[in-house]
Amino acid sequence: MFKDFFSNATILIASFTVMGQIFKNLPLSPSSSHLTKLYWGICYGILGNILMVFSFQINSTTIADLRHLAIVVAAAFGGVVPAIIASILIALGRVTLFGITETAFVAAISALLTGIVCGWFSKLNIRPTIKAFTMNLIGLFFISIVFAIYIEDTNTLLNVLLLHYLISLIGGFFAYHLSVYIANSNAAEKELNLSLIKLKESEQELHKANELLNRLSYMDGLTGIGNRRHFDEILNKEWSRLSSSNSPLTLLMFDIDYFKKYNDTYGHLAGDQCLQTITSAIKNLVANNPYITFCRYGGEEFALVLSKTKLDRGIAIAELVQRKVQSLKIEHSSSEISDIVTISIGIASVIPSLEKQPKDLIHLADTSLYTSKMNGRNTISTA
Ligand code: GH3
Ligand code: MG
Ligand code: MG
Repeated sequence: MFKDFFSNATILIASFTVMGQIFKNLPLSPSSSHLTKLYWGICYGILGNILMVFSFQINSTTIADLRHLAIVVAAAFGGVVPAIIASILIALGRVTLFGITETAFVAAISALLTGIVCGWFSKLNIRPTIKAFTMNLIGLFFISIVFAIYIEDTNTLLNVLLLHYLISLIGGFFAYHLSVYIANSNAAEKELNLSLIKLKESEQELHKANELLNRLSYMDGLTGIGNRRHFDEILNKEWSRLSSSNSPLTLLMFDIDYFKKYNDTYGHLAGDQCLQTITSAIKNLVANNPYITFCRYGGEEFALVLSKTKLDRGIAIAELVQRKVQSLKIEHSSSEISDIVTISIGIASVIPSLEKQPKDLIHLADTSLYTSKMNGRNTISTA
């Protein structure tokens, strides 16, 4: 008899472990969905039937096992619904699997009553361990009545009851605490996974923010084109790239004529607007040319880095840029040379080499720009 009860307890504990793994993402609690309670109720019902298969045969019609613990744990974790479902399945199993006898009907009613009373009891607001222990006693109470009716021999009755109570209380204690442990570790694992997902998301956001920050650090805030830092980096990069291929590098710098007067006449905001209009037009003009990088050099001075571009092509591009600005027809009543905004352009071209430096090219282009200013502005000069 002890062996049978022990194997019952072992099945019970092993089953709880397996069920905990299967329903890892569907934890059972009084607030679980009805579907979750249904799944768990069916599982506990099946478990009760398995326990009955491994029961101890006391006499021709009476069997003893730990099936009530399946109902008790169902009630302790999920409340009325899984407890009742489990008890119905156990009651059905009792009358269909082990012969339709009076004892079977009484045992089935005992299982149903265990489900109902434990289900009701689970609603009480008392400590969960005490609740589970009391529900175990409720299940044992109904079993005791069945045994008292159908076990005539007093000695056998006392022996069965003693062993049943002993194994049930010890097995119930382990089964309940194991289930609590499994539920807690499942919840902890779920939380850990959620935290890992959140961590990954924040890492991605941080990465995106870094990329944006990086892009912004190379962008001019007013015009949206590359800033001085971008200009320096591109010029240095192109310089070392072209120095190994003996290809020309041309730099075009332009400056708005009488822009201080423009600001004085129309206001600083209008001046900003003027810078934006001009940069947007030139940005569109060179947008499809992968050899041209357009940057704001500083203030109202701009630069176009023309890779693999010879001087004559640079002059042609400068003429296009100048015509483009003129075509915008931005009114400039205080300009001394025109009634619209004009620009002066300086161009310089070199074959980069390791003996020379990018700043030499900047100096040449700047000198050309100065020449354009000296020559009356709205002109193009080369070096
Ligand atoms: P020049 O024809 O010789 O180039 O004369 P200029 O008046 O254009 O040259 P100057 O260097 O004397 O003045 C440049 C002006 O550009 C002064 C400065 O206020 C203005 N400026 C520089 N950056 C900005 C800006 O971001 N917005 C506005 N509105 N004005 C700017
Ligand atoms: Mg200037
Ligand atoms: Mg100027």
